[in-house]
Amino acid sequence: MTFATLGLIEPLLRALETLGYQTPTPVQAQAIPAVLAGRDLMAAAQTGTGKTAGFAVPLLQLLTLEGPKVSANSVRSLILCPTRELAEQVHASVAQYAEHLPLTTYAVYGGVSINPQMMKLRKGVDVLVATPGRLIDLFRQNALKLNQLQTLVLDEADRMLDLGFSEELANIYRMLPKKRQTLLFSATFSDDIRLLAGQMLNDPLSIEVSPRNVAANTVKQWVVPVDKKRKAELFVHLMRKGKWKQVLVFAKTRNGVDALVDKLQGLGINADGIHGDKPQATRQRALDRFKASDVQILVATDVAARGLDIEDLPMVVNFDLPIVAEDYIHRIGRTGRAGNTGEAISLVCADEVNMLSAIEMLTRQTLARHMEQDFEPEHRVPDTDASGQVVKKPKKPKKPKTSGGGGKRNLGKWVDSGEAAPVEPSIKPVRKVPVFNTGPRKKK
Ligand code: AMP
Repeated sequence: MTFATLGLIEPLLRALETLGYQTPTPVQAQAIPAVLAGRDLMAAAQTGTGKTAGFAVPLLQLLTLEGPKVSANSVRSLILCPTRELAEQVHASVAQYAEHLPLTTYAVYGGVSINPQMMKLRKGVDVLVATPGRLIDLFRQNALKLNQLQTLVLDEADRMLDLGFSEELANIYRMLPKKRQTLLFSATFSDDIRLLAGQMLNDPLSIEVSPRNVAANTVKQWVVPVDKKRKAELFVHLMRKGKWKQVLVFAKTRNGVDALVDKLQGLGINADGIHGDKPQATRQRALDRFKASDVQILVATDVAARGLDIEDLPMVVNFDLPIVAEDYIHRIGRTGRAGNTGEAISLVCADEVNMLSAIEMLTRQTLARHMEQDFEPEHRVPDTDASGQVVKKPKKPKKPKTSGGGGKRNLGKWVDSGEAAPVEPSIKPVRKVPVFNTGPRKKK
């Protein structure tokens, strides 16, 4: 199959050829004809599958062939993304695909001045990539009208809900014309996403390009058990031993990112960090330098790392496991992209055992464990498997109660003195799902 057989017009074929896209990826092969035929889509596709071109290319074709010229302050296609980085990334791809088309494209997001964005929107934009909060701000300030909207894309919809954008999505939904085409992309499909899809989509075609919730199989994944306090030391040891050239490292918190970057820089290692506390320009600079291989180790939180598209990134390290198991899939999706192979290593300490178990259950696999010599943990990481079981040591027989004993009462959970108690079931974010007024909607 070629892009030409999917019915794409010549200017798009030329742009794809320039980018070196020879054959459509599975998600593109399914999505492109469906979008061209005007269908709504509900697509389960992870980052790295080529999903951006899957929605953007046919959408650009429809905008070129159908519909009126864009009016002042209007947009004809809106692509909603969870983070600024992803918005930038998606916009960069859209602009490349649209290179030979008479269409305008633009990206808006928070954290930067709104005025230049308002100016840019004055003439209208054919394709607008936006984060939900900034889009609403622009709409409320009358800088944006949505009555010309033909297509809405929800990219990484699961992430938008995870980041708490459900209310913004409900507000945006109320601003949209009823007659439109809607394309929803999500790496994972929870009940909340299905509910959202039920409200936003009209008779959607479902596309699933890899087994649901299963991490990319081009990525070799393994776990190194280690004590929490020795993680940084182990990281440096593995890095030197494996002669890692470029690594994207995930830490759980902003402080965690800063602490690891400080430690690495202190050892003369070329490292930088990105997290939500850093200004947008600083984050972008770190990202650009990493992409240009000027930075060897980039340490990031989940939110900041969204939308990173780095070709041939061989290695992802989970310095901390993610609290939300789905994030594991997003993280390791940074490597093994577009057919390349990659490696994802997780440094896991005893109190992350429930997170490890949740990840194994979600990805339906038991991650291989490699004990690193001289780093064997004092606090054993209990065994886990894809069934979600955390295999604990057998309980010690209870001591008979002594009358008047002053110490804490053991309420039945036995904890070995040398082993940290597993944390309580992994914290799940509260996902609020908007309830929309779904009046009858006409199909395009
Ligand atoms: P995405 O999943 O959209 O983030 O795309 C992942 C990477 O695959 C990006 O670097 C794209 O440029 C690349 N890509 C997308 N489609 C193709 C294709 N048909 N052939 C080769 N590379 C592609």
